[in-house]
Formats: sequence, structure tokens, C-alpha cells
Amino acid sequence: MKNFLIFLSVLAIGINTVQAKDYAKMQIKEMKHAQKYGTTKQILQNKQTNITPVSVSVLNIKDPKIMKFGNYDKIPKDKYDEKLKKDEIKYEEYAIQLGKKHSKYYTTQADAEDFYKVYRVAEKIIRANKLDYMNWRICLKKNVNDVNAYSDGTNLITLTTAIFDTFADNDDALAFIIGHEMGHSLLGHYKRSAQLLKKMEREQNLAKSGNSAAALIYQGMKRKYLIDSKNMEYAADVEGAKLAMRAGYRLNDGNDILEFLSVYDISADFRNTHPSSDKRLENLSENSKYFPVDWKNIGEYNIYNSEVLPVKLSSDRKSIVISAAKEKLGSNNYYNPETMDEVYARFGYMYYVNGEFEKSLEYFGELFKLDQTNAPAYLYASYASEYLYKNTGNKKYLNLAKEYANKAQSLDSKNKYIKEQIGQVNNL
Ligand SMILES: [Zn+2]
Repeated sequence: MKNFLIFLSVLAIGINTVQAKDYAKMQIKEMKHAQKYGTTKQILQNKQTNITPVSVSVLNIKDPKIMKFGNYDKIPKDKYDEKLKKDEIKYEEYAIQLGKKHSKYYTTQADAEDFYKVYRVAEKIIRANKLDYMNWRICLKKNVNDVNAYSDGTNLITLTTAIFDTFADNDDALAFIIGHEMGHSLLGHYKRSAQLLKKMEREQNLAKSGNSAAALIYQGMKRKYLIDSKNMEYAADVEGAKLAMRAGYRLNDGNDILEFLSVYDISADFRNTHPSSDKRLENLSENSKYFPVDWKNIGEYNIYNSEVLPVKLSSDRKSIVISAAKEKLGSNNYYNPETMDEVYARFGYMYYVNGEFEKSLEYFGELFKLDQTNAPAYLYASYASEYLYKNTGNKKYLNLAKEYANKAQSLDSKNKYIKEQIGQVNNL
């Protein structure tokens, strides 16, 4: 019996040895995955995507700075700082109001301090961009899991407490998040997708009743809808970055949110309708190269010439309401997305200062189909053609340089830069 027990225990040890996992080996294998998926490094190393707009040309090319993207006067720094100081007194007044008056309600949602934070960021965006024609509402919705923000196409922007808490100390990121949602609203994305969804639903119902043609149409529409959704995200990112830049926020820190999302996995639903965060970063990085410095100046001009917008809690106590400016102006005095001729003029000019002359001519060409009255644009098109002639020796560009310079002169005969350019191209 004794021997038998010894035999059993030896057997047990034997089985144990056969079945034992090599936990060390398993861990080593796991660490290989960690090299790829580990998050800390990715979050901290993420400053690879450089999102900095070009303000002045680094190239030694002609740029008399006569193309302006918006109407403004440059506000001297001391005057601007003085105005910001004055505004600060008003902000404090509103902060006290916000806190004292409603403090008993804050237990269910955000507290006064959190609301004040989003108020300051959103208010600056609203004023810098002249979006103060209506009340804007910002809701901090309790959701500790979902790092997300959304809006419903009206003036209501919702940040989950998860996204707010993650970026609570990063005003640039909060500005980008709020700007992105405002971008969707300003570009009319909700109406656009609602219309697509309505059409899709009609075809889907027909398909369900046995209409095979409708089934095919539905599939096609669904594909288009997903592509459109992604394109709208790219556009809202660029629009949001523009709004944030005009309000003085730094794009390179604002994109922390996209870098954050690119590290973590996100829901399949989100992935279906949104491009990957890496692609969104690429899109932002590329587009912000063509943001003119005027945008920052316009923002300062608008803030300088406006008063602090009051804030209050919404009637349901779940969001804040940032009030519209008292004075009502015509629609052209407020923010509008760029018109097509403004877009082409900007890309024509920005490609030029980036030394991409062929692209510059391409977009100026598009502009001239829509608008033949922009003398500075013709001058810059002449410059771009001149450099292309010098680089390639192709006579076609020399002719273009002359043609555009003449056109500029016919529009503005007194401009000294245009006169100079006429003289120079005629000597080539
Ligand atoms: Zn979006």
C-alpha cells in the first residue's frame, strides 16, 4: 500500500510536469504583442504628426502680401492683451453667477467648475469666428466609458464626461473637439446625412417587399452613405481646426484627441462611419499646411471687437447656454463656410507660398472660371507661371506669366507690384 501511494504521487508529479504550461514562455510571447499595442509610448511619442500652419513662406519667392483672406485690421499686441484683461473681469462675474445661482443643481451633472471650463473654450471659438448669431448649448453628459462628443445638428454640442475628463487640462484639445462638432453643424452635415438615410430607407422598404432593383439601389446607397460619412468627418476636422486656430488655439496640441483615439480600439459602429484616426491625422496635417495666418488675425480682430457672451444653465440644468450677441447684423457679417472662389483663391495662394507652383496655377485656374475680378490672384498666378518658366524653360509658362500680369493690370492699374511684375515678365 505504501509503495502504491508513492507510485501514485510519482505519477501525479509526472502528469503535472507534462501538463504544466511554460508560463515564462507565454509571457515572453505576450510581450511581443505589447511592443505593438502598448499604449504609453504611443501616447507620448505621438508628436510625429506635425500640424502647424505655414504662416510665412520659407522660400525666397516674391510675396508682397496683398492677398487677404477676410476683412480685418491687425490688432496691436498690447491693445489685444489689454482687451483680454478687461474681458477677464466679465468672465469672473459670469462665473460667480453660474456657481452661486445654481449650485444646488450640480449634483446630477457636471459642477460649476467643469461648465465654466467648456464655457471659456466655446465662448472664445464663438466670438473669434462670429458665431454669436444664436445661443449655443454645451452639455456634459455623464458617461464614464465613452470617450466621445457629438451634436444633433442644431446648436447643442455634447461632450461625455469621459472625453471631458480626459482632456480637461488641455484647452487646445477641448477647442478641437468643440470646433469639430460646430463644424458638422455649420457645414450642414446632419441634414445631408438625414436626407441620404431617408432615401435609403425608402429603397430598403421597397426591397423588403420583393423589389430586387430596389435592393441593388439600396446596397449602392449604403456604400455611398458610409463613404460620405467618412468624408464629412474629414471635413469637420478641418473646419474644427480652422475655428480653433482662429480662436488662438494650437492645432498641434488640439490633435491630441485624434492621437488618443488612434491608440485605443473604438467601437465597430464608430469605425464604420469614421475614418481611422491615423487617416484623420494625415488629413489634418496636410490641410493645415494651407491655413493662412490671416485666420489667426481675423480671430483676434473679432474678439477685440466684441463683448464677453453671458452664460447660464439651461432650463433642464443639464447644459450651459452661451447667449447670442445682443446686436443682430446681416448674415454676411457672421461666419460662413468658405465659398468656392474663396477656397480656390486660398489654395492657389498657399500652394504658391509652399513652392508648389503647378498646383497653385491649377487652383487659380479654377478660381478664374468663377471670378475674373481678383487682381491679386492674377498677380500671384503670374508669379507662379514665371517661376515655372524659369524652372522648366517652357514658353507656355512665359506666355501665362504675361497674360496673368496684364489681366491684373487691367483690374488694378495703379498697383505698384503689378506694374513691377509687368516690367519683369516683359524683360524675360
Ligand atoms: Zn464628427
